[in-house]
Amino acid sequence: MLRGVGAERVRARRTASRRPVDLASHVGAHPRGGVERQPCARGRHPKCDPGSIRLSESAAQLIRVLAPLGAFALGLALERIAPHATLRPAWRANLGLWLLDAMLMAAVCGACGWTVAAWAQTSGVGLLNELDASLGVGVAATVVGLDLVSYAWHRANHEVAFLWRFHRVHHADADYHVSTALRFHPGELLLALPVRLGAIALLGASPIAVAAFEVIFGIANVLEHGNFDLPRPVEKTLGAVLVTPALHRRHHSTERSERDSNFGTILCLWDRLARTLRPTTSASVFPTGLPGRSGAGARSLTSMLLAPLRSSAGRT
Ligand SMILES: [Zn+2]
Ligand SMILES: [Zn+2]
Repeated sequence: MLRGVGAERVRARRTASRRPVDLASHVGAHPRGGVERQPCARGRHPKCDPGSIRLSESAAQLIRVLAPLGAFALGLALERIAPHATLRPAWRANLGLWLLDAMLMAAVCGACGWTVAAWAQTSGVGLLNELDASLGVGVAATVVGLDLVSYAWHRANHEVAFLWRFHRVHHADADYHVSTALRFHPGELLLALPVRLGAIALLGASPIAVAAFEVIFGIANVLEHGNFDLPRPVEKTLGAVLVTPALHRRHHSTERSERDSNFGTILCLWDRLARTLRPTTSASVFPTGLPGRSGAGARSLTSMLLAPLRSSAGRT
């Protein structure tokens, strides 16, 4: 039960959201691009608050694509400066799968995370909208909240046999490299979609907060798959809070007990709390991939797409 000022705010927004045209209208970005006038329910939302951040969907999508590309370039540079192991990256297979995923997700989803967040915001749906959270609190809570959902979903991908059939394609890359970050079966991405969208709606994340999460998540995903060693002091400092390449490399170990650890993507907090963290450093060298899956089958696009159908798709 909300009391006092908080309750007043919620009541005011609910009343406003029921009116077809209400309060001061504002000019803001339409969820599918373009610009339109919308009823402004509360003054503290970024779309309603004069002078606050206004980020159009197209700009957000551009940043969402460019930021991981920048991280990819940085990862490649670091792999040349301080390589961890000598590899033979599966460039063609990994890039081919990424291209397929990009086209499929553009067709199925487009910017659906932004659209769901915009709907939740204008409808007053979700925890953060109920609490009338400020922009800063909303962004921080969204990044942390969706990272927690990602941890849980990733762990489910390892524990549920059906989900593992798809996720194992990511793990089958024996040459752990920034391009491994692009290697996900389209079925895994499609299955994850309702989970991510449901979490956005339940959380009441704003479009800007979702965009911020996707940018940070994309950068973290690319860099933690890097085949590079960090200087020990840097690794120790970053590893206290964030998932480092060494931590995620351990998750790609051929040993199942090690693979079932270090599930985080941005923060290693969830692994610490759930006791699935297996601390490691760049000094540790071990084989990555899946046992018996380092041959041509792990480097063929067709083989990767058909992997969930294989009778040997059980956990190894
Ligand atoms: Zn995994
Ligand atoms: Zn990975």
